Amino acid sequence: MSSWGTPSRVSTDLYRERTVAEPPVSLRRKRCACGKVVTAKQLVQYGACVACVRIAAKQVKEAA
Ligand SMILES: [Zn+2]
Repeated sequence: MSSWGTPSRVSTDLYRERTVAEPPVSLRRKRCACGKVVTAKQLVQYGACVACVRIAAKQVKEAA
């Protein structure tokens, strides 16, 4: 089982590499429910792409 173990130094380097490679949250790409790719920031702030937010706002207005 000794060959399976990973030296902690390597995993730390891997972690660091991955952390550096990760772009900021605001630039990460996410997919909206409609299939449109938007930034993660947009999804966190509005929960959907601009088009879906507008449609949702319109529906709320009409329902009221
Ligand atoms: Zn959308």
